[in-house]
This record gives sequence, C-alpha cells and structure tokens, in this order.
Amino acid sequence: MAYKTVNPYTNETIATFPDLTDAELARKLDRAQATYREWSKLPFARRAVIVGRAADLLRTQKDKYARLLTLEMGKLYRESLAEVELSADILQYYADNAETFLAPQKLKEKSGRGDQAMVVSQPLGIVFAIEPWNFPYYQLARVVGPQFMAGNVVVVKHASNVPQAAAAFEQLFRDAGAPEGLYTNLYATRDQVGRIIADDRVIGVALTGSEGAGAIVASQAGKALKKTTMELGGSDAFIVLEDADLEKSVKWAVWGRMNNGGQCCVAAKRIIVAEPIADAFLDRFATELGKLVPGDPMDEKSGVPPLSSQGAADQLNEQVELAVRNGAKVMRVGPTPPNRGAFVQTSILTDIAPDNPVFHQELFGPVAMFFRVRDEDEAIALANDNPYGLGGSVFTSDTARGIRVAEQIETGMVYVNHPTWTTSDLPFGGVKRSGFGRELSSMGIQEFVNKKLIDVV
Ligand code: NAP
Repeated sequence: MAYKTVNPYTNETIATFPDLTDAELARKLDRAQATYREWSKLPFARRAVIVGRAADLLRTQKDKYARLLTLEMGKLYRESLAEVELSADILQYYADNAETFLAPQKLKEKSGRGDQAMVVSQPLGIVFAIEPWNFPYYQLARVVGPQFMAGNVVVVKHASNVPQAAAAFEQLFRDAGAPEGLYTNLYATRDQVGRIIADDRVIGVALTGSEGAGAIVASQAGKALKKTTMELGGSDAFIVLEDADLEKSVKWAVWGRMNNGGQCCVAAKRIIVAEPIADAFLDRFATELGKLVPGDPMDEKSGVPPLSSQGAADQLNEQVELAVRNGAKVMRVGPTPPNRGAFVQTSILTDIAPDNPVFHQELFGPVAMFFRVRDEDEAIALANDNPYGLGGSVFTSDTARGIRVAEQIETGMVYVNHPTWTTSDLPFGGVKRSGFGRELSSMGIQEFVNKKLIDVV
C-alpha cells in the first residue's frame, strides 16, 4: 500500500490506506461527472456559499487541520497554522472574485458592420489535480478554489505520504455542504493515473510536483490531447547586490531558505552575493542560520523540522556528499539535529563550480548554495544559468535597479527586496523546466474554462 502516514519526526508508521480499486474509480468518475452537470449550471453566488463555508471551517478548526500537516510531513506547527490560514484566504478570494474574473468580455464592434461580439467563460468538466506533499492544503486550495467557482469539479491524486490531509480536504467540502462528486480524493495507483488522464470526461490536468512527474504526466495528457498546467521544481536565485541592506537581506535569506523546512519550490536555494559584501554576508548568514534549533515540529522553540520523509533526508544528504566529492566546501551550521527522525544538518555549500553536478540541481531542505559574483551582470548571468525558471529575488537599496535586474531574470516571478512568496491575488508559476501555466490571482481561474466567442451579427 503506497498511501501511508509516517511521522517524519519519529519515522513511525501511523496508518496505511488501501489503493483505490478499479470499481471504486469507475463509480467516483461517474459521480463526479453527474455532479458536474448540476454544479456547472449553478450561479456564482450558490457556488460561493460552499467555497466560502469551506474557508470558514478551515479558520474555525485550524488547530485540527494544522496538526495533520505536522504529523504527516513534519512542518513546524506554527507554519502549519499559517498554511491553513492561507488556504482559507485562497478559497475566500475566489468565492468573492470569480464572477468578476469570468464576466463576459465585450469585444470591440467591427467598424461598419454594427455587430456585437463577446467572449464568455464556461466550465468544461472534471479537472484532475496531482499534488505534492510540501503544502498539502495550499496546493489543493489553489486548484479547487478557482475550479469550483468556475463551475468545474475536481478529482485529486495527492502525494502518497499525506493521505490523511488529502481525506481531510475532501471531508472539509462535504462539511461545507458540497454535493458528493464535487471534490473527490483518489488513492490512485500510477496505472490508474494514466487511465484517469485518458478518460474523456477529464478535461485537463493540473500538476504540481517534480520535473520528472511533470514530464510523464504532461506526455500522457498530450497523447490524450488534454490541456495541462505544470507547476514544477525550482532553484531560485536570491541576489544580493553590493548596495543592499545587509541585515535585511540576511534576515530574508534565512527565511527564504529555511521556511517549510527548506522544502519550498520557491525557496532561496542559490544565494548569490556581490563580492564587496560577500564575506560579511556569509559570516552573518551562517550565524543567523545557526540560531535555528532542530527539534520537535510541535515545539514552538524548534526552528528546523525534520524533512518530509527519511527518503527525502537521505536524498539531500547524498546531494551534499556529491557536491563535496566534486570540489564544493560544506559549512555545517547550528546544533547537530536529533539522531532519530528525518533530520538533515543545516549547511551552506560554497565553492560550487559550474561542472559540479549539484550546480544545476534543486536542493530540497536546509542546505543553501552560496555563490560570490563580481557585479550585477555576473549575478544575472549566474541566476539564468539554470534549467529551472520559477522565482527569484533581488536585494538592493535602489528600487529602479531592482526592477531592471528583475526584468533580466528568466523566471515566472521575481521579487525585489523579499524572497519569492505567494498570496491569493498574485499569479504563481514558472518558465523553462519549472513548467507552464499560472495558478492563483485572476489568471489561475482562466486555465480550464472554455473561452467561447459569441458573435451577434
Ligand atoms: P513528486 O514526486 O513529483 O510528486 C508530486 C505528485 O506527483 C505526487 O502526488 C506524486 O505521487 C505524483 N507523481 C509522481 N510521479 C508520478 C508519475 N510518474 N505519474 C503520476 N503521478 C506521479 O514531487 P514531490 O517530491 O512530492 O514534491 C516536490 C517537488 O514539487 C519539488 O520539485 C518542488 O519544487 C515541486 N513543487 C513545485 C511547486 C510549484 O508551484 N511550482 C510547488 C510545490 C512543489 P506519489 O506521492 O504517489 O509519488
């Protein structure tokens, strides 16, 4: 059984869940399609009642929802609470704004003909969401909030290590009064994933996850001529120019690298600092990182949680060893983590040459890559010397310069004087091997609707 809860703080297996049977899958898809026929006809206001109620339930029961995240993937409890709040915000945002985002658009009359043309946005059917464990509710909210409000229904294959969070989100919508089949959680096998993608009633696939999973799912969807959105990995550059505020940039570098245990797609994975302040930055960065104490994610004194699984910890340790074997230096900072649980020693890698295999890899955990550069041009070139193109940030005391640098970085998002982050009203997504399509904001709700032209002549 692939779907199981293993507490990464203790590495104990807490519960296992049987895979979906083919008969259950057939019944659930039939149900989802039947519900789509009804749901798609409802006015926005009726849909908003259910989605808004789900947001309220998350807020009023946030401890219950947050504990599950910490149990299943080890997130610090205070960050679990913040994720529950963020997920509620996203649901409420779409409940409040979907009708405006999807309002019919009048096109300009063509001169002389006196006719009227408009584009209406209509739902299409079942959207299949494939989601990762690192933000188990947030990832779901950013798909189901817009899709439900657009009139689509969603079937979800969540990551196999967060089965209880997956089930909790399905139950959340039932508790909010959703009809069966609006939100369907599937403990699907890989084989079933392929068949769901091929099913004619499934109109598209929204995947967040690794580049490898994205490539496989996008090719299956391509074969079935289905649209996809791909929110994949990243190795964001965190550029600190010589005129940056040192204290502020160190503070945000620590947060950008370490929040969510370092397991964010948009984490500040590559810290790139201009030579004049590189030594001072590195010294201060190591000191501040070292103040974060590894420990029990439920304990509010802990600053470094375990990774999501022992497998993830082993993989990151192997990447650090690979980096060192290829000439990088490793600075181990902060206290030694507990010897039980999926912990990894907080570290900074320096002297990473371009031919070091990790130079182009994504490090998912408390290990920062540090680079020093001569100037702004070299910083931009290094930031862009990467297969990924998700987010990034630039620190400078000159905002106009920050924007100029941001414009030259080949990613989907760049923040000036803050690490890349996410809110309901800002678009999220990448370019290059970080994928395509956008989630959140007014853009996310446009991905799986029929933009139908109606022309009155
Ligand atoms: P992952 O291994 O790719 O898993 C993501 C989801 O895809 C899981 O539900 C997984 O199921 C499923 N999956 C994996 N291989 C599959 C296949 N061959 N066919 C069908 N489904 C498959 O990624 P992860 O390790 O959970 O998540 C970390 C990655 O996600 C990182 O690269 C991170 O940067 C990226 N991420 C990107 C964003 C973004 O918005 N761009 C946000 C968060 C995370 P199983 O669990 O059953 O394997």
